[in-house]
Amino acid sequence: MSQLLYEGKAKKMFATDDPNVIRVAYKNDATAFNGKKKARFDGKGKLNNAICTMIFQVLKGKNLPTHFIEKISETEQLVKAVDIVPIEVVVRNIVAGSLAKRLGLDEGSSLGRTIIEFYYKSDALGDPMINDDHALAMQLATKEELAEIRRQAASVNEVLKDLFDEAGILLVDFKLEFGKLKSTGEIVLADEISPDTCRLWDKKTHEKLDKDVFRRDIADLPETYEKLLSRLEAVK
Ligand code: UDP
Repeated sequence: MSQLLYEGKAKKMFATDDPNVIRVAYKNDATAFNGKKKARFDGKGKLNNAICTMIFQVLKGKNLPTHFIEKISETEQLVKAVDIVPIEVVVRNIVAGSLAKRLGLDEGSSLGRTIIEFYYKSDALGDPMINDDHALAMQLATKEELAEIRRQAASVNEVLKDLFDEAGILLVDFKLEFGKLKSTGEIVLADEISPDTCRLWDKKTHEKLDKDVFRRDIADLPETYEKLLSRLEAVK
């Protein structure tokens, strides 16, 4: 059995024979509200692995650097080993979630421009929002690394907006994490991009195709993720 390196809310990370390669196993668990709401759904790990694999392959096709190597089973991927930059990067195209609440804006209204936000990755503190000055003062990243993270986040947004648009879906907002490759120190996109970490709405009906169906008890999670996967497969 390979060594378990880390167990998160939705994934487990295992060592492999190669110190620069990690095996990721997607779990069937869903959590919301910083782990306060929990459930397990048969098939969720398989669906998120499939959706995330497809998204990382599209990004790779556009020459965007990611940690992704390959999907090796229904629920597992191999990825490059990174040191995670402890910043959650949220990209927003349409008002929703915490932005609507914090600034009193109507959910669903469009933003005049894309917003990129940084949050300090800390479960104990509930991931507080920070700006570049906080990140620099706390030495979470250098000025150059922050610039590179912003650049890559904006590029990922452009590629994914187009991908989802082709599937008749609005990319409302999403969360990214970046890491520094253990091998070279290069900044690459890491973690996952899945309906757990994005808000995705049907373009015409605004039907939710993401984890909000679980957060807000709107619809069945596996059925929703299955619907999303087949819509993406139809345009691939
Ligand atoms: N998000 C995430 N993990 C987090 C926080 C947010 O994946 O720990 C995603 C979330 O799914 C949404 C986007 O980031 O797509 C923006 O989330 P928001 O700040 O609105 O917070 P939420 O409403 O999820 O509490």
